[in-house]
Order: sequence, then C-alpha cells, then structure tokens
Amino acid sequence: MQRTDVNTLGEFGLIEHLTKAFPLRNPSSLKGVGDDAAVIENGDFCTVVSTDMLVEGIHFDLAYTPLKHLGYKSVVVNLSDIYAMNALPKQITVSIAISNRYSVEALDELYTGIRAACEYYGVDLVGGDTTSSPKGMVISITAIGQGQKERLTYRSGARVGDLICITGDLGAAYLGLQLLEREKRIWQETPDVQPNFENQQYTITRQLKPEARFDVIEAFHRVDVKPTAMIDISDGLASEIFHICKQSGVGALIEENGVPIHPETELLALKFKLDPITCALSGGEDYELLFTIRPEDAEKIKFLPEIYIAGEILDASQGVKLSTKGGNLHDLKAQGWKHF
Ligand code: ADP
Ligand code: MG
Repeated sequence: MQRTDVNTLGEFGLIEHLTKAFPLRNPSSLKGVGDDAAVIENGDFCTVVSTDMLVEGIHFDLAYTPLKHLGYKSVVVNLSDIYAMNALPKQITVSIAISNRYSVEALDELYTGIRAACEYYGVDLVGGDTTSSPKGMVISITAIGQGQKERLTYRSGARVGDLICITGDLGAAYLGLQLLEREKRIWQETPDVQPNFENQQYTITRQLKPEARFDVIEAFHRVDVKPTAMIDISDGLASEIFHICKQSGVGALIEENGVPIHPETELLALKFKLDPITCALSGGEDYELLFTIRPEDAEKIKFLPEIYIAGEILDASQGVKLSTKGGNLHDLKAQGWKHF
C-alpha cells in the first residue's frame, strides 16, 4: 500500500483531502468545513460553531506560559473565530487530556484563566471532557455562538473593488514568541540569569494574553456596516488574505504602508534581524480581524477607532500582490504555520 507523508499536502491540503467526500445532508447545515466556524440554521437565528485544539510542545510551552494565561488564551482564540463570522459567542465546552504531572492546583490555575475569559466575553462554560494523556497536556475548546442569518460574514463574500481592512497592528505576538523562546534558551544555559523583558511588555502581552475583537463586531452593528468577507488573523495576514481570495474567487493588493505595526514590534524585529513587514505578513496569533467592505461603506467606518485600510480586492487574474513602501510590487506568499 502507498504511504503518503502528510507534509506533502500541508495543513489545508490535508483538511481538504479528508473532508471532500462529506456532502452536507441537512438543509440546516448552512456552512460546513472551510470557514472560521460552521453555521447551523436554527429558526430566526443561526448557531455558529468553532473548535480548536492546543497541544503542549506544539502550541504552548509551559516553560514561559503561565497556566492562567494559557486558559485565557485557549478560550480567546476560539471566540475570535465566532466574531470573525460577525456572530456573538454564547457558550464554550472545554476538554482536557492531562498527564499525572499536573496537580489540582495547576489545573485550578488553568481554569482561573478560562473563567476570566468567560467573564470578560460573557460566555458560559457548559461542558467538556476530562481524560488522561501519556505525556503533556492537550486542550480542546469548542465555542458556540449566535448570529442573524443575513448578518453572518463568510470568507467567500469579497468582491472586486472592496477595501481590505485590518483591526489592529500585526506581528507583535510573533515577536513576543521569539523573545520568550530566546529567554528560555538563555535560561536553560545559565539558570541564574533573570530574563529581561524591559520595554518589551507589548509584544509579550500580545503573545501571552491576546484578546478577541468583539468591540469591532459591536461597532459594525452600531454603524450598520456588514463586511462582505471576514476572517480572523491567526496564521498571519498573508495566509488569511489567501483564504479570502481563494474562497471569493478574487485577487488582492496589499499596501505595505497600510499594514499597522506597533513601534515596539518594529524595534524588536530589527533586533532579531527580521523584516517587520514579514513578521506582520507571516507571523501568527495576532487575532485581529481581516475584513473587506464595499467602498461606499468607507465613510461609515472612517471614524471607528483602530480600523486600518490596507488594500483593495482585485480581479482574480491579478493575483495577490504586495506593494512595498519603496514602490515595488511583489507576489505575496502565504506561509502561515507549518504544523507537521
Ligand atoms: P481556523 O484557523 O479559523 O481555526 P482551521 O484552519 O483550523 O480554521 O480550519 C479550517 C476549516 O477546516 C474549518 O472549517 C474547520 O472546522 C475545518 N477542519 C479542520 N480540521 C478538520 C478535520 N480534521 N475534520 C473536519 N474539518 C476540519
Ligand atoms: Mg479563524
């Protein structure tokens, strides 16, 4: 029998390969695999469901991640996918697999973070599962949300001429991670040296305690704008704009000048000899929203805080391009995270 390495398909190729033979049988399954969340029709409202799994050693490292922060972040990354559908999360379930390395006190810490996120975002913990693992910890969270059918936003709605918008600065979480990884290496080599995070609070906070942008979803409602397409930025701007372009059947032009980068991110990138725009395009875990709007709606969002116009949707034939500060045009490459 043939044996194909999963690396030959990549994460998205693998998902497509595994799920392509599953047609949706129920009319209530409005959206299945392929967006930030699935959509189930439910009377006047739609139920929106998203799930994520975090594996110790792959997605988090407890050498520098406090359990409380881990709990908080695990919830936030799921809620972000619900907001990306222009819906509001209402419930979560939390499933954990743990080795005997974890004490009740350690798990209390994890759940303190989970509780803080539930309180802040107004969601209820309604279930889950607890089991043992031979090694390390796995956390799987499902978020369930609610939205009006006609207000939900998919990755597939972008049209030529739409403006591409971002809700906040990018690249910080990636640099925060580089910093924590570097301090961990130093600490492993010389345990008596204390880590020095002076002037790097912003990037570290963006990595350890991200927030999901429910304020933006509320603002859309307030000013009565519905984005034509939306996705949350978990894998980097380049990867996410590719998802929108692929599913909408369009191309895009991103202006480097329009991609917001925090000054601390910029300084830190240079320290690590990285190009700040590359960190913004290909770093991950910022959990900002990337959305497109009709140009005539630009007036309505102009006065909302923290919305940056970063480009325009083009015809598919024009590809996905980056216009640099120096005036050059490059083909954008979607790198994203390699999980395998
Ligand atoms: P996100 O980055 O927004 O969390 P993912 O890239 O993880 O989204 O997933 C993309 C889509 O593929 C989603 O609709 C998700 O539900 C679906 N998906 C991922 N893994 C599987 C799987 N093993 N089986 C079925 N669907 C999956
Ligand atoms: Mg997402």
